[in-house]
Amino acid sequence: MSALLPEVPALPDRPLIHPGKRIFDFSIAILMLALLAPFCVFVLPLLLVLGKWRLQGREAIGARGRPVRLLRIVATAPHGATATNTAYQDFPLLFALLDGRLSLVGPRPIGPHELNDFGGISHPRFSVIPGMFCLWGLRMRSNINYGTESDADLEYVRDSSLRGDFGILGRALLARLYSADAGHCAATQSISGIRFLNLSMDNLLDAIVCSLNNRMRTHIAFVNPDCVNIAAGDAAYRASLSKCDWVCADGIGMKIAGKLLRRPIRQNINGTDLFPRLCGELAKSGHSLYLLGARNGVAEAAANWARSHYPALKVAGTRSGYFSESEEPALLQEIRMTGAQVLLVAMGAPRQELWLERNLETSGALVGIGVGGLFDFYSGRVPRAPMWLREIGGEWVYRLLMEPGRMWRRYLVGNWVFLFRIAIEKLTAGRKKGSAA
Ligand code: UDP
Repeated sequence: MSALLPEVPALPDRPLIHPGKRIFDFSIAILMLALLAPFCVFVLPLLLVLGKWRLQGREAIGARGRPVRLLRIVATAPHGATATNTAYQDFPLLFALLDGRLSLVGPRPIGPHELNDFGGISHPRFSVIPGMFCLWGLRMRSNINYGTESDADLEYVRDSSLRGDFGILGRALLARLYSADAGHCAATQSISGIRFLNLSMDNLLDAIVCSLNNRMRTHIAFVNPDCVNIAAGDAAYRASLSKCDWVCADGIGMKIAGKLLRRPIRQNINGTDLFPRLCGELAKSGHSLYLLGARNGVAEAAANWARSHYPALKVAGTRSGYFSESEEPALLQEIRMTGAQVLLVAMGAPRQELWLERNLETSGALVGIGVGGLFDFYSGRVPRAPMWLREIGGEWVYRLLMEPGRMWRRYLVGNWVFLFRIAIEKLTAGRKKGSAA
């Protein structure tokens, strides 16, 4: 293994670990080992001797590229079948925590075969001790693992502090309560009769660029629990969603629904997180963007944000989302004249989806996306929830606090209605399965 790893003098000369962090890691390891002492002294040796469980080792790359060996407990499989995980699989990691091979929080301990994904051993992630909990893992669980693991590791190393570690640890433990690793996801998933394309953000961006390059007209909708509630009572909206080319699952509520129904949702795909990435892609590809929606001046302010962050981006035009039916033909003509290829419509659900269904073709745009309150965020009119709150699925709490008058019904009532709807769906799905068997 060490032959695979070059020497690492290039790494920044910074302390590998804060003394407080080491004391914390050590204390937690001692505490957990003390709590699990009966398991460690009686149960584990017995099951190992009986051959029910065995220890499986793997090589990982530790701090400064040093090889470390990590063990886990697996259940012995009959006749050479693949060993399966056990509830105690990570127990031996406590010893790695005790002797400093691992920290509680740090970048994921990767294997040598993954080194290339991080551009080699000079990646700053190797300047700190790998951890049992990591920022990337937390974001995977919360469904907001956009970008790459390497970026998340860079962010972790850049902002690394004892306080930050406590935050990651707390959020990671909290996220375990309500989320699940998406694991293997079906390509499409149906929740409450709405068919979702189970994409990642990167897949969606690639697909948008592909639509633009192939001149394929594409209508995209983001559906959150509030939209599911609206769709349940609005046949026109339901029909419009069924005609959309791609419907994406937006928000932690959809992830929870996917977990309860055992139909895992790959990623939280929403307009607000898509926007900067889309601007970046369009700036590269040269396609132009029109922003339609929100109050007077808000779309223009969002466009200014995009222009300042992506100078090569062509913003074809902007317009507020408050207009009468009689103004619509002139508006459509205006959009058409700009030659915009991507049209973002921020008029809230279901209005934006119905509007795009009727008018996308006439507008001349190739890709139309309903984006809800996106312009409000990027214009600075409404602040967006801080990242730590998004990582625990609490963005809705922040939106509620920011606009209580507008949001209380959506969240304080709507969330429960949505969960009730999902519970009924689970019960009826279970019953159908039962009667089919
Ligand atoms: N809006 C609009 N025209 C309308 C109604 C609403 O442009 O006739 C705008 C409104 O100003 C806000 C957005 O639509 O900017 C709706 O945002 P909301 O927070 O409801 O969407 P979400 O992000 O929750 O989907």
